[in-house]
Amino acid sequence: MSRRVVITGGASGLGLAMAEAFVAMGDQVAVCDADPAAVASVSPAILAVVADVTDEVAMSDFLGRIEADWDGADIVISNAGIGGPAGPIEDLDFADWQRCLSVNLDGAFLTCRWAARVLKAQGAGVLLLTSSVSGLFGFPWRTPYVAAKWGIVGLTKALASELGPYGVRVNAICPGAVEGPRMDRVIAMEAQAQSRSEADVRKGFTDGVALRRFVTADEVAAMAVFLASPGAASISGQAMAVDGHTERTT
Ligand code: NAD
Repeated sequence: MSRRVVITGGASGLGLAMAEAFVAMGDQVAVCDADPAAVASVSPAILAVVADVTDEVAMSDFLGRIEADWDGADIVISNAGIGGPAGPIEDLDFADWQRCLSVNLDGAFLTCRWAARVLKAQGAGVLLLTSSVSGLFGFPWRTPYVAAKWGIVGLTKALASELGPYGVRVNAICPGAVEGPRMDRVIAMEAQAQSRSEADVRKGFTDGVALRRFVTADEVAAMAVFLASPGAASISGQAMAVDGHTERTT
């Protein structure tokens, strides 16, 4: 049976990989994204809308439209996030800290507040949040992102307890470094912040992982598909790493 899937930050990267994985299973998928060009490039099989997850009015319009057109949702994925600045905390700008926390956490709040009301009323549903291995470890020089992604795990745990009695499961996915343009940007930023070569920073990431490689967007999407499936019926309140087993953070 076709399920109704809503994904934030779904016009590129991991969100798009998840959207395409659910479409391939015959599900109805809607995404929002702050990048109009990315939204315009999404396949017509996916309903794609421009909305910034930190904009309460824009999110209310997007989610209200889904609720009206679809009469609810089955799977909601709060995925939009930004990496924030890199560097020793004493060098970081307050505005960059606030923006990182806002996109990652305010966005999750607005998405989860809507999802909780809708899924609870249905007495069923799956809520997934994209955290990171940065929500499981204390990576240095990334304090805003690490704080935000631990916050996502906290939100997941609290919501799993709040919504479990109503038949709603809530889990976080914690990807390791994912192959693609976003990690290329993070590596360039960290290399500059630490006066290291990009090759050295990249090696630092892979050397700290047992499988000695980055993960792929499809592997992260596969976890979302599994967590939304009946096979995961007893899994809630978990922070599931898809990271090749992180062993070191520096
Ligand atoms: P990405 O930059 O490739 O894609 C993120 C998408 O979110 C983009 O389309 C972007 O336009 C959108 N977005 C950004 N800010 C937004 C906002 N305010 N409102 C709506 N949309 C917004 O990044 P990604 O790798 O796909 O990241 C997705 C999630 O995965 C994020 O929460 C990120 O923190 C997390 N994550 C990524 C990695 C990685 O290595 N790529 C690792 C761990 C966790």
